[in-house]
Amino acid sequence: MEKYGIHWFRRDLRIVGNPALYQNIQKHKGRVVGIFFFDSKFLARKDFSHNRFGLFLNTLKELKRDLRNYGGELLVIDALPQEGFKNILNFLSQRPSGLPSMISFNRDYEPFALRRDSKVQKLIHTFTNIELLTNRDHLIIEPHELKKSNGDYYKIYTPFSKIWLKLFNEKHIQERISFSKKFLNQKDKIFRIKWQSLFGKSDKFQDELDLFIKNNNKNLSMTLPEAGFEAALKKLKKFKQNLSKYDQNRNYPFLNATSGLSVYLKNGSISTAFILETLKPSIKSQFLKEIIWREFYYHILYHQPRVEKEAFIEKYKNIKWENSKKLFNAWKSGMTGFPLIDAGMRQLKTTGCLHNRVRMIVASFLTKDMLIDWRWGEEWFMKCLLDGDLAANNGGWQWAASTGCDAQPYFRIFNPTTQSQRFDQKGDYIRKFVPELAYLSDKEIHQPTEENRPKTYPKPIVCHSEQRKKALRIWKKKA
Ligand SMILES: Cc1cc2nc3c(=O)[nH]c(=O)nc-3n(C[C@H](O)[C@H](O)[C@H](O)COP(=O)(O)OP(=O)(O)OC[C@H]3O[C@@H](n4cnc5c(N)ncnc54)[C@H](O)[C@@H]3O)c2cc1C
Repeated sequence: MEKYGIHWFRRDLRIVGNPALYQNIQKHKGRVVGIFFFDSKFLARKDFSHNRFGLFLNTLKELKRDLRNYGGELLVIDALPQEGFKNILNFLSQRPSGLPSMISFNRDYEPFALRRDSKVQKLIHTFTNIELLTNRDHLIIEPHELKKSNGDYYKIYTPFSKIWLKLFNEKHIQERISFSKKFLNQKDKIFRIKWQSLFGKSDKFQDELDLFIKNNNKNLSMTLPEAGFEAALKKLKKFKQNLSKYDQNRNYPFLNATSGLSVYLKNGSISTAFILETLKPSIKSQFLKEIIWREFYYHILYHQPRVEKEAFIEKYKNIKWENSKKLFNAWKSGMTGFPLIDAGMRQLKTTGCLHNRVRMIVASFLTKDMLIDWRWGEEWFMKCLLDGDLAANNGGWQWAASTGCDAQPYFRIFNPTTQSQRFDQKGDYIRKFVPELAYLSDKEIHQPTEENRPKTYPKPIVCHSEQRKKALRIWKKKA
């Protein structure tokens, strides 16, 4: 039988501009099949989200449909990748097809993924004559490509972004950007093989995707956004019309002025390279800066995987958090008595989305006003967010708690009321998510009083000015 390859999909759930998949297709003239392994231990994680998982599964379904449209196939297996690969490869070695001559995947940088990939690589090397091919996809510039001349990594965003932009303009990186549209508007079939032709009549490896979707759908608490490459493309095209106003409007949560692409970047329905190739933002634009923040946090996580568990800044590892469960519950349920905080927390819980400015404000409130460990907030965000992503979430939380690299200085503490007056001037965002306050005037809505507060809405649960002083004392003692 002719040689063939397997592409292992992970967080690169698309065909368009998928580097490792493309190389595999080229090498095998389209004789490539796709596989996805689901590790059910993942379901038991404390920060597991049925909604985010639902979106992920729907993305896999879209990918499967796209692959089929182009003559290919995706097999979704209920097994750890190590076990799954071992079983499939042992089985294929007994079949007329023989073993694949290549297994490809795009690289991941999370600590768990790095450990998993190294185990899988070892396993694959135990089979002779299988070439293992990996490529860059999730980031434009990978952690090993961007280092100081002394070999150290960058800990401050501004110098990081300067070097990032310099590299970005280099020819080999620009080639990555133009490659991102490969197979867009493809007319002909790309794939020339299906799993069935490798397995013959055996039903040993059943596709579990529909079962996963059926089981998970029982636990969804919201209507999910559309999934997959086409949905991401639609979002991107819409955002393109607003790009020129991004810098001006991005901080106002009621304006819907940001791209909304994070949910698609999370699982690779679309790549940052594709987004930049489509939008061609100016080198000075805030949008490009945000994409670089995303890369920055990945670089930090890669070089300092310990940040997953502890403060980046050593001296802030042992802050004496008060960790009041009562305050934490009020924060989670949007019942703190601070309208903007409550609007944000209710948006998060009911929609799985949260505007970046409000993420910063509610995170600051939890850590500085409530004196609750940022890791509690980080976990709650992961439980709720559809775009929940370790690097950006951890980076964002450590930024707000002033424990991270290049974080908000500890003495700059957001005042939730003045932030509300500044970024939700007319209270439109608050009215949408805290409807019981909707009748208050534009002025009153940011800080209801004893006289105008509805009975169903709580008094402020903490005194901001007192808590601020307390937080300053705590952080200063460590500084
Ligand atoms: C406490 C906290 C937690 C966060 N948790 C996450 C998370 O789990 N997942 C996540 O993707 N982002 C997270 N962010 C970053 C940011 O809030 C979201 O990426 C952004 O709100 C997504 O909306 P958008 O796609 O419309 O962004 P846009 O404003 O359109 O930005 C474009 C893209 O740039 C990236 N980006 C934008 N801002 C940031 C940022 N501050 N840090 C890193 N990348 C950024 C995202 O990939 C985003 O999709 C967090 C921020 C904070 C302060």
